[in-house]
Amino acid sequence: MQDPHYSLSYYQAYTCPVCRHGKISALPLMEAFACSFCRHIFTANLEKQAITMADGQLPLTWYWTGRNWQGMTDQNRFGLGYGLGAIAFVLLPTAIVGLGAYLFPPLPGSRLSWFPLFWTGLTLLAHLACLLWLILEYYQFPLYLYLQALRQRNNS
Ligand SMILES: [Zn+2]
Repeated sequence: MQDPHYSLSYYQAYTCPVCRHGKISALPLMEAFACSFCRHIFTANLEKQAITMADGQLPLTWYWTGRNWQGMTDQNRFGLGYGLGAIAFVLLPTAIVGLGAYLFPPLPGSRLSWFPLFWTGLTLLAHLACLLWLILEYYQFPLYLYLQALRQRNNS
């Protein structure tokens, strides 16, 4: 049986911190790891027990705790501001459109009385889709591969 705590080394495979689906293992003759699923490349710092994404838009770093990956605190704080911005980006336009529909209600019984509600919902969905796309782009998440793997798992 394997000890659940083990250190970061080039002789082990670890769950990928990006897709959390594939395994990252050392590339032969290189001080780098590659994911078997999303194909991201990570450079490793064994002294600090850390890996850094080498092919991403941002040099994201994770620390190996012996059991799982932990992102840097700076990254998390950075993410909180983005999170709040993202919530505002989705909710504010929806609230404005919804408020408009509430303040200026359509004539009852008119043919387009469903429209303000529909438009409010559409605003929400459009901004949500925009946000999702940005997140996927930012992490370069392999959405297509992921869906394909899910489908294969369901079939078998
Ligand atoms: Zn991966």
